[in-house]
Amino acid sequence: MSNKNKNSRIGIVGGGPGGLSTAYYLKKKGYTQVTVLEKLPEVGGLCNSITFENRSFDLGANYLTPAYKKTLKIAKEVGAKLYVETKAYCYNPETGKYSSILKAVTRDVSFFKFSWQAIRYFFERRKVSKKLPKAGYKGVSQHPDLACSFEDWLRDKNLLGLKELFHIPITLMGYGKLHEIPAPYALTYMSNYTFLTLLMFGAGLPIPWPKRFIYGFQRFWEKVSWNLTVIKNADIHSIKRGDEIQVHFTTLEHDMNQLIKVEKQMTFDYLVLAVPLTLPILENLFTDSNTGHCELTNEEKRLFSKVVTHPFCLTTFILRDLKLPRRLVNLLPVPELGKPYIITQQFDDNPLVSFYSRTDEHNQPDREKVIDYIKDLYSQLGSQYEGECFTHDRWTYFPHVEALTIKEGFYDHLEELQGKNNTYFTGGLMAFELIEPILNYSDNLVNEYF
Ligand SMILES: Cc1cc2nc3c(=O)[nH]c(=O)nc-3n(C[C@H](O)[C@H](O)[C@H](O)COP(=O)(O)OP(=O)(O)OC[C@H]3O[C@@H](n4cnc5c(N)ncnc54)[C@H](O)[C@@H]3O)c2cc1C
Repeated sequence: MSNKNKNSRIGIVGGGPGGLSTAYYLKKKGYTQVTVLEKLPEVGGLCNSITFENRSFDLGANYLTPAYKKTLKIAKEVGAKLYVETKAYCYNPETGKYSSILKAVTRDVSFFKFSWQAIRYFFERRKVSKKLPKAGYKGVSQHPDLACSFEDWLRDKNLLGLKELFHIPITLMGYGKLHEIPAPYALTYMSNYTFLTLLMFGAGLPIPWPKRFIYGFQRFWEKVSWNLTVIKNADIHSIKRGDEIQVHFTTLEHDMNQLIKVEKQMTFDYLVLAVPLTLPILENLFTDSNTGHCELTNEEKRLFSKVVTHPFCLTTFILRDLKLPRRLVNLLPVPELGKPYIITQQFDDNPLVSFYSRTDEHNQPDREKVIDYIKDLYSQLGSQYEGECFTHDRWTYFPHVEALTIKEGFYDHLEELQGKNNTYFTGGLMAFELIEPILNYSDNLVNEYF
């Protein structure tokens, strides 16, 4: 626990959930000089919302569950209203048939075996709570039973009957197949609270979860940012870390009815990095655009070179002739990479339909192929539409490391970096790529180091 001078100048790079939540908690703790530098014209990062025909849609993060205690508390504070997602269905593209989630996930397992394993999951997950820290993954390397893929963890606990169920929130939400995602990440996500919600939602019970923000997740963050100092359009040219931290950047300012580019330099006592923590993004940030010199330390380069991401695509089409039986349709069995995993038609009175797909690390299949796959699918579902897509976004998603890297102590070394060169880290890599764990991590970071 540290208590720094409350007038310390703190610069936060990145105005996504990691950066804004850190600024929010610093302000709550009494820090008066906190500035967020965001490179885009809007805050929110992977929370991105648009409006089409008077309805708001999320092109990035969308759902909240009852486990989102910190997010819901802030939402109440800023007055961001929510609505409940209706029931979901599954669609099997091989047979062309819709079914309930329960039926789809018990296709290869008896209902009795599935139910018994679901009960046992609660007990096994409870044991894991003692091994996972309050936030982040420091010390997880000390638990060899967690240094494996989630599928191996399920196998070890004799819980493979739940595999198809876990494909929905994990594989279809872009985190990789169960043999790819390291167990600590999947177990952070699938807390007992979230697992219970998943079971009840899957069984079609009338529960008031998951929820979405009426005006979208990005607009929630915009409301949060109104109470914080945020400089948007900040194009950082260099960051120099010595006794003080010098950040040079350009931004846009109004000059009558024009936007003009202005040079800025800010000095900070502490720096918080809340960008996706991959080596190319950090090198770009820390390489002086005049001299070409990279300011990252060797340890930072070594650690961040191990981070990988999963490009996740969200494509929308305006399909006036398509009516899905439910607003949310999951595709099972898991389609091949590049093909749509999830379809959402958020409103009965609005033709905007979203398709979620994943590609590999090399961005393959490419944009055209991903869109062709979507066209094949919606024509199979009955739409005759022949035009272009409305939006296509490919996100730098799920910064993470492999299970073996976790076993080798990656997170222990990463946590040791906190505070070195007056620099701190937050966001998806540190916490897991979901809003609530990120808020939890930022809150913890502020409590522990500031
Ligand atoms: C399609 C999709 C669906 C999702 N669904 C959900 C969901 O239902 N529920 C949920 O909880 N989560 C969901 N997520 C995940 C959630 O959006 C992310 O976990 C979260 O946004 C990560 O926050 P972050 O701050 O770590 O990173 P980001 O959101 O990536 O924010 C990083 C910020 O840094 C900025 N930045 C980058 N480089 C620079 C630079 N050089 N200078 C200044 N700023 C920079 C970026 O512009 C961005 O604003 C989803 C994500 C996607 C893509």
